[in-house]
Amino acid sequence: MSAKETFDVIVLGSGGAGCAAALAASSLGLTVALVEKDQLLGGGTADSLGTFWIANNSMAQAQSLADDFESALTYAKFVAGGQEVPENLEAYIREGRRVLDAFVEMGVGLQLALGLPDYFYPSGPHSCGDGRRMVEPKSIRRQDLGAFANSIRRSNHNVQGVAWSDSVGWGGFANRRNWPSAELEERVRDGVLSCGEALVGQFVAQMLKQGKVQILLGVKTKGLVTKEHRVIGVETVDGTMLEARRGVILATGGYEGNAELVQRFEGFPEWMNPFGPENTGDALTFGTQIGASVARIGINNSLFIGTGVPGRPEAFFSVGLRGLPMPGAIAVNQRGERFGDETQFQDMVMAFQQYDRRNRKFLNLPAFMIFDDQFRQRYPVMDAMPGQPAHPDIARADTLLGLAEKIGIDGPGLAKTVAQFNADVAQGQDSVFGRGRSAFSRNNAGDQELKLNPQLAPVQTAPFYALPLKMGGVCSAGLLTDPHARVVGADGQVIEGLYACGNAAAPTFLGVGYQGGSSIGAGIVFGYLAAEHAGTHSVS
Ligand SMILES: Cc1cc2nc3c(=O)[nH]c(=O)nc-3n(C[C@H](O)[C@H](O)[C@H](O)COP(=O)(O)OP(=O)(O)OC[C@H]3O[C@@H](n4cnc5c(N)ncnc54)[C@H](O)[C@@H]3O)c2cc1C
Repeated sequence: MSAKETFDVIVLGSGGAGCAAALAASSLGLTVALVEKDQLLGGGTADSLGTFWIANNSMAQAQSLADDFESALTYAKFVAGGQEVPENLEAYIREGRRVLDAFVEMGVGLQLALGLPDYFYPSGPHSCGDGRRMVEPKSIRRQDLGAFANSIRRSNHNVQGVAWSDSVGWGGFANRRNWPSAELEERVRDGVLSCGEALVGQFVAQMLKQGKVQILLGVKTKGLVTKEHRVIGVETVDGTMLEARRGVILATGGYEGNAELVQRFEGFPEWMNPFGPENTGDALTFGTQIGASVARIGINNSLFIGTGVPGRPEAFFSVGLRGLPMPGAIAVNQRGERFGDETQFQDMVMAFQQYDRRNRKFLNLPAFMIFDDQFRQRYPVMDAMPGQPAHPDIARADTLLGLAEKIGIDGPGLAKTVAQFNADVAQGQDSVFGRGRSAFSRNNAGDQELKLNPQLAPVQTAPFYALPLKMGGVCSAGLLTDPHARVVGADGQVIEGLYACGNAAAPTFLGVGYQGGSSIGAGIVFGYLAAEHAGTHSVS
C-alpha cells in the first residue's frame, strides 16, 4: 500500500447509522474518519422521512406522555412476530432512551413527531396513538453546514423544508392543495432542510462543531484489513491504508442497488432500489470475506412499494406512502382485482409475496396503481401539485377498458373491481379490505374533508391513469450482530474490531417488522452503541 492514515475509528457510510456512529465516537474524544463512497452524504436516509422510533423517551416524559420499557417491549415483540433476536430487540428499546438523550446533549436538534401514531395502533398491545415514540430532526439550514452545504443528497420524495410533523399538522399529504404556500416558498428560499436531509444535516453540523471527524467523500474501499483475527482498518481502491486503532464500523446500507444480491436474497421481479446507487452490499461482501455470518429475516415486512419518477424511471418514489393511501387510488393485479388494504403498505407487501404455485409466478405481480382525474385534481401525483397535468409518461385512457388494454391487464376484471369499490365507497366502508382502519395512515394520507371515510373516494372520472408498482426496500439480509453491534463470525464468536449498524446489519432487532421509524431508529441506536463499545473497550 502506498500511503497510510491512522484514526481511532473508521466509519464506512454516511446515512443515519454512519453519521450517528461517527458523531458518537467523536464525542468520546476519538479521532474518526467518516468515509463515504458517494460524492454526496446521507445515503437512503437523506431521501427518507427522517423520523425514528424511540420508545419510553425523555422528550415524551417531559410532556407527561407516559411510556415504559415493558410496554414498549410488548408492543415491539408483537411487531416482530417471534422472528427477532430477543437480546438485540431489548437492546434497541432499552438503550434508545439513553442514546437519544446523548445526541440531544451533543446539540443534535431533535423533537417529538407528534401526530404519527404507532403503525399498529390501536390493534397492537401497548401501542401509542399520538406519536410519543416518534422523533424527528428539527429543520436546519444548508448554510449551517459550511463546506458541506451542498453535499447532502436531495430527496425524491419530500417537499423541501417540510417536516413530517408539519405535513401531518397541515392535514396530511392528501391536503397538499391547502398547505401554506408563502411559508413553503420562504423555506425554500432560506435553504431549509427537513426530514432525512435534516437528520443528516443535524449530525454533520455537530461533527463540524466538534472538529474530530474527517469526512471523506467519494472514497471507494477494496475491503477490510485484518491482523491476527482482528480488523485493523480498510484499504481504499487507490491503495491507501486507513488504519483504525479501535474499530471499523460498517454502515454501508443494504444491497438494494446490487441486482445479483437482490435476486439471491429477495427474488422479486421488477425490483427497484429506493436508496442510494452506492448501496451495493459492501458490508456483506467485506464481512463475508473475513468470515462474518449473514442472517436473513424470512418474512420481511420492511419492503416498500414504489414506482419510477416520470422522466426518471430509475428514481424510486414511494407510492406505498404517498399515493395508494390517498382516497381514490387502488392497486390491482393482472386480473384487474384488488388484493389488499392499499392504505397500509405492509398489507400490500405481504400480498405481493404470495406465489401462485400452479402458474409458477407471483400472484399479484405485475400490479398497478389506478386512479382517476378527480384524484389528479385533488391530490399530488408524486411531485406534481394537485391539478397539474399528469406527466406524459403516465399511462391513461378515457375508459377503464382502454386503460386495461394499454397496461396489459384484464379489462372486464378491472371494470368489475372498480364498480364494486365505488359501491362500497358510497357506503363509506371498504367491505373487502377495510381501507381507513389505520390511525397512522389516516393522519398521514387521509383527506380529512371526507367525513364518511378519509381514505375512500370513487374511481369514476375520466381519464383514468395507471402507474406500475414495484417492490423495493429494506432488504432481508445483513451481517449478524450482537447487542453491541459487534459482527458475529461464522464460528459464533465476535470478530474483534468490526461493527455493523443500519441496513448493513441484519434486521434482527425487529423480526417480521415493520414499525415506521424503526429502521433509522435502530441504525442510530446501534451506531451509537458500536462507537461506545469501540471507544471504551481496551484493544487486545
Ligand atoms: C420513502 C422512504 C421513506 C422512509 N422513511 C423512513 C423513516 O421516516 N424512518 C425510518 O426509520 N426509515 C425510513 N425509511 C427507510 C430508511 O430510509 C432506511 O432504511 C435507512 O435510512 C437506512 O439507513 P443506513 O444508514 O443503514 O443506510 P443509508 O442511509 O442508505 O446509508 C448508507 C451509505 O453508505 C454508503 N456506502 C455504501 N457502500 C460504501 C462503502 N463501501 N464505503 C463507504 N460508504 C459506502 C452509501 O453511499 C450510503 O451513503 C424510508 C425509506 C423510504 C424509501
